Amino acid sequence: MSASQRYPKLFSPLDLGFTRLKNRALMGSMHTGLEEAENGFARQAAFFAERARNGVGMIITGGIPPNLEASGHGIKLSTPEEAAQHRQITDAVHVADPEVKICLQILHAGPLARTPNCVAPSAVKSRIGAFVPRELDDAGIEKQIADFANCAALAKSAGYDGVEIIGSAGYLISTFLVEKTNRRTDRWGGSFENRMRFPVEVIRRVRAAVGNDFIVIFRISAMDMLEGGLAWDEVVALGKAVVAAGVNIVSTHFCWHEAFVPTIATMVPRAAFTGVTGRLRKELGVPMITSNRINMPGVAEEVLARGDGDIVSMARPMLADPELVRKAAEGREDEINTCIACNQACLDHTFTGRMVSCLVNPRACHETELTIDRAHTPKRIAVIGAGPAGLAFATTAAERGHKVTLFEAGPEIGGQFNLARKIPGKEEFDETLRYFRRMIAVRGIELRLNTRADADALKADGFDEVIVATGIEPRVPQIPGIDHPKVVSYIDVIRGRREVGRKVAIMGAGGIGFDVAELITHAGPSAALDVAVFAREWGIDFVNHPRGGVTGVKPEVARAEREVYLMQRKTDVVGRNLGRTTGWTHRLVLQRRGVHMVSGVDYLGVDDAGLHTTVNGEPRLFDVDTVIVCAGQTSLRKLYDELQAQGVKARLVGGAFEAAELDAKRAIDQATRLAAAI
Ligand code: NAP
Ligand code: SF4
Repeated sequence: MSASQRYPKLFSPLDLGFTRLKNRALMGSMHTGLEEAENGFARQAAFFAERARNGVGMIITGGIPPNLEASGHGIKLSTPEEAAQHRQITDAVHVADPEVKICLQILHAGPLARTPNCVAPSAVKSRIGAFVPRELDDAGIEKQIADFANCAALAKSAGYDGVEIIGSAGYLISTFLVEKTNRRTDRWGGSFENRMRFPVEVIRRVRAAVGNDFIVIFRISAMDMLEGGLAWDEVVALGKAVVAAGVNIVSTHFCWHEAFVPTIATMVPRAAFTGVTGRLRKELGVPMITSNRINMPGVAEEVLARGDGDIVSMARPMLADPELVRKAAEGREDEINTCIACNQACLDHTFTGRMVSCLVNPRACHETELTIDRAHTPKRIAVIGAGPAGLAFATTAAERGHKVTLFEAGPEIGGQFNLARKIPGKEEFDETLRYFRRMIAVRGIELRLNTRADADALKADGFDEVIVATGIEPRVPQIPGIDHPKVVSYIDVIRGRREVGRKVAIMGAGGIGFDVAELITHAGPSAALDVAVFAREWGIDFVNHPRGGVTGVKPEVARAEREVYLMQRKTDVVGRNLGRTTGWTHRLVLQRRGVHMVSGVDYLGVDDAGLHTTVNGEPRLFDVDTVIVCAGQTSLRKLYDELQAQGVKARLVGGAFEAAELDAKRAIDQATRLAAAI
């Protein structure tokens, strides 16, 4: 079956008149950190070219500011010298596949630019901005518009096929659009016609600067999730106005960085927002890009078939698997390394100033330094433990031509991922396990389940390398009564092996403590699998589309009849160390379900009365039925020590190497790098 028979919509070309997209798969814009890295242009060239070689129809770069006041990191495109550097990127992409289009995203961060020189329509500081922006005067506005046009013309001179202008998310253009951030009374503020003058002028001047044979995309705030945000008729009016001003393609965005509604995290159902694009598409009559939580080709095809868009944007999925489109075209969907929307190595890195990568694919944005080459001398390698670290090592080593035997004591692969996938909202972890299962088959790994490897047998087998990925065991705090029947381990709770009472104390508020709290307070269908439940829980109204798309009334949250205390010894805010871009969603969900967050706890003991503690020095008894221990982990190294004693050279990876604050990102990265080098 051909690609276009498998996915007739996804693999149909799109005629734009002066040019054509070879298919409907777009790699959406992401700031990766490569933009400001040493050798950043060469690294971006490698990063984008790898995606271009593997079937994507169009690529949008990370956001590039048109001037210094738009930029927090000193990167901009405003001079011919800067444009010349971009040639490395555009040439690499067009050499990889001359049919692939690449557009530069022009991002003017406005009040979110991390510079004291940042500008905005009014001097309104964003909740997440670093500085109060300077209010632009008329001449200042004219300069910003001219800088957009100059940047677009330079992008054209650098070999780009187009530009995308971001008009959403709390960046400059969007701050002109809403009254909350635009308090002006001149021709740039007041009525909506005045407030949309700035984006319309930007587009008009950009079009004049680049001519007609150049793609101009406008990213519109189709639902900004802000109370008092854009009303639907304003979205439509703005869309029509930017099209009239010269836009070829409108791309919908569902985001304002300050808003308290998750729009791309794992807890968001797949393609939850595309219906909004579909409605706008009927109004505008130009090709439309839709996005958010579209992570597999089947989802993309359904979205297109429903008429929810003409082009499907996949940004993070292109980090997770640069070959996504090629695999779809070749009928190898089960080999796709699916983006699980965890944000742990991508957005969490962006928002903490670190280079982006991907939890399930550590090569993302590291293409030039982490290469998976054929091994000169194939080795026989034993890998002990089929958790994330063991799986990543085994599949990478086998890809390089090594002969790998993977031992797993349990009946299934996955290790800690098997726990994660049982948490409502984390269903996507199933995809990672499907991927690894398939890779074990494709790469000819010998998998021995239900097999506890022992040092004698491993020695006798004479493997060239032994990789110990035996993982972790839960830490058991040594307090009086820890053996009391009330006390249970998180593993037993998540696996459903132990009953949980009505009043519960969770000892430890790390990632696992939060997961367990989610599991035991959850009721009804998982919001991640049901758009109506998701909308209810986050106060989104997809039907009536009030301002910003949000109702402003207290969201309805289903919850189990349980009283839960989530505890930690630290005195700071519970959940502070969770992921930067998703931690707040977990905290908010649990607060809405009435979970009590308790910090500054000293655990004194457990008995029939409950959990005895002091809280910030004050004695307190929690008369709970169940105490769930989520107190972190320690490494399991028994086998490693035995191998050492036998004189067998072995290497540790993952939790067995270092358990403290272990996460799958670190485990997979470490194991992949070791496998690439062995
Ligand atoms: P963790 O994040 O290291 O948290 C361990 C918790 O136990 C902390 O709250 C710690 O807080 C407490 N603790 C440590 N030693 C203790 C002791 N001796 N007695 C009592 N309490 C103790 O570990 P985790 O929750 O097991 O998670 C493991 C890793 O999985 C995490 O690092 C995380 O990255 C990953 N994970 C991530 C997510 C996610 O949503 N991103 C979800 C699940 C797991 P105090 O020391 O203040 O008491
Ligand atoms: Fe997707 Fe997580 Fe990878 Fe980001 S880190 S691309 S969210 S799988």
